[in-house]
Amino acid sequence: MEKFEWQMDLVSRYFNIMPLSEAVNRLRSSQLPSRALSITFDDGYRDNLTNALPILKKYSVPATVFVSTGYLDGNTMWNDKIIESIRLHSADTIDLTSIGLSMYKVDTDKSRKNTTQEIILSLKHLPQSERENKADYIASLTKASYARLMISRDELIELNNNGVEIGAHTVSHPILSKLEKDTPLSEIANGKEMLEEILKQDITLFAYPNGRYLNDFNDDHVKMVRDCGYSAAFTTEMGVGSNKSDIFQLPRFRAWDTTEEKFLARMMLMYLKER
Ligand SMILES: [Zn+2]
Repeated sequence: MEKFEWQMDLVSRYFNIMPLSEAVNRLRSSQLPSRALSITFDDGYRDNLTNALPILKKYSVPATVFVSTGYLDGNTMWNDKIIESIRLHSADTIDLTSIGLSMYKVDTDKSRKNTTQEIILSLKHLPQSERENKADYIASLTKASYARLMISRDELIELNNNGVEIGAHTVSHPILSKLEKDTPLSEIANGKEMLEEILKQDITLFAYPNGRYLNDFNDDHVKMVRDCGYSAAFTTEMGVGSNKSDIFQLPRFRAWDTTEEKFLARMMLMYLKER
């Protein structure tokens, strides 16, 4: 069984799964049942539709996808440009000295993986335009093309029509704390507006790109999210939301475990901590 499928099988047996907006409302009114759980995906990858949706339907699990709207028209996120370019690079080395990086080995699966990680790490916290330019340069060195990774506008509507709740995740997925003065607000507001325009409904949930408090966003951004009319926001800090949590900084829990036992044990521990 594929990992995502056993995870959904398991959570649907042990947890009270509910749509995220319902969980937020119940949290606000102190009516959240025990072992309440909501499933979220970030960014708006196509495989949410092609791989995850059939499994979500099979187990009747509701889910929310936080979409960065800047990728709905066929763009690729900078880190994916690097991942795909290195994966498809045909030579044994890649020379990135002209953009201030190094000469890297890409002759084996392992060296490709290490090179990819190293490059992403060195570009991650650069100003957004510089990061984009360097990712484009790396992509230009690899002529091979790859399939579209992010959902289109039509696929966004299709996901939503299939019961998947949509939340906002900015336009271009920037690290908010690295942006110049007015840009964070337009990223936070425009992502919401564009989703509302496409889906003809209110978008009330937001997830911070990258999502770590102080590293990736700060109190200014929390205030902007609140002022934009969102009703709740999510970080990538690990934890379980409770009535002690700030509704505009609700933590989440990444499902990286490779076995059912580890996954369940880690989840149970997390829930116990919040009691
Ligand atoms: Zn994201």
